[in-house]
Amino acid sequence: MIRTLRPNLRLLTGLAHRFQSTLVVAEHNNDKLTPITLNAITAASKLGGDVSCLVAGTDCAKVAAELCKVQGVNKVLVAQNDCYKGALAEEMTPLVLATQKQFNFTHICAGASAFGKNLLPRIAAKLDVSPVSDIIEIKSPDTFVRTIYAGNAISTVKCNEAVKVFTVRGTSFEAAAVEGGSASTETVAASSLVGASEWLEQNLTKSDRPELTSAKVVVSGGRGLKSGDNFKLLYDLADKLNAAVGASRAAVDAGYVPNDMQVGQTGKIVAPELYIAVGISGAIQHLAGMKDSKTIVAINKDPEAPIFQVADYGLVADLFKAVPEMTAALDK
Ligand SMILES: Cc1cc2nc3c(=O)[nH]c(=O)nc-3n(C[C@H](O)[C@H](O)[C@H](O)COP(=O)(O)OP(=O)(O)OC[C@H]3O[C@@H](n4cnc5c(N)ncnc54)[C@H](O)[C@@H]3O)c2cc1C
Repeated sequence: MIRTLRPNLRLLTGLAHRFQSTLVVAEHNNDKLTPITLNAITAASKLGGDVSCLVAGTDCAKVAAELCKVQGVNKVLVAQNDCYKGALAEEMTPLVLATQKQFNFTHICAGASAFGKNLLPRIAAKLDVSPVSDIIEIKSPDTFVRTIYAGNAISTVKCNEAVKVFTVRGTSFEAAAVEGGSASTETVAASSLVGASEWLEQNLTKSDRPELTSAKVVVSGGRGLKSGDNFKLLYDLADKLNAAVGASRAAVDAGYVPNDMQVGQTGKIVAPELYIAVGISGAIQHLAGMKDSKTIVAINKDPEAPIFQVADYGLVADLFKAVPEMTAALDK
């Protein structure tokens, strides 16, 4: 009797998922985990298999402890050495490569922040694989979705590399829960100093407002504000809404506000519950950074402004009148 052995597809897919093991390179400041790492962990969990996180820093035991409680993390690998000050890609790369050699991960990822965008391509180059950047969805362990042409087209990429190296768009994956996990920790040997670059200092903007990429409400201003001083109108409104303040590139280029406030293709990607665009025309490069916001409100005096095409609520008005009125109404 001849029996046909039909492969059980579901079983094969299940097995493929079980054999995955992913390394998430954690971003942190030795004290706290940067929120995008939690989004990267969710993405890593979707691949199936084990999820390990690598914490490299100078005095980062607190961050390792924080990560052990994150749901979906199986193991936290810790490397402490002065050379990881400032998380320089030149110093971090040999550590990630040594960790990869030791554990043989099928996937290596990080958030698509300045940290991840700096580090992951370098790791991919050293592993001689093509990285897949800024993914917004995972179809299967080797198939990822990412945007191209400033978000105007979506491309599905099949990656045939032995090790898949990718960065994760934070706004496209929920943050992993920070409680309920029980990962083990393991110390990994620190790599020796490369010395190609040196971290001297950082001057960070201090603000009591929520951070732009994780705020639930964002108020952004554009060239229509006409000066940096006029941004006070937006700060007053933002304070009432517990909102972060962003800006278009035109406002940044004109020197109204610093460039860490820029939203868009070459700025930050945000997807808050509420995005209020004030005096912003809605160029595609700006939309690329905010069009996934849940509710978009636009205030613009030009009824033909393209921003109204993506807005859920549009107010054709002079911002210098409308914004103070909104702020005053929130006082009542
Ligand atoms: C490669 C590349 C990357 C880019 N990356 C980015 C990016 O990351 N982010 C980004 O934002 N841009 C980016 N840009 C620039 C982008 O193309 C636009 O030039 C920019 O977004 C325009 O900014 P804006 O809307 O503030 O200015 P404008 O286009 O000048 O619009 C100003 C708006 O304000 C309105 N306005 C004026 N006065 C008032 C008033 N009193 N009341 C109400 N409304 C008023 C006007 O009607 C107008 O619609 C990029 C461009 C390139 C080529």
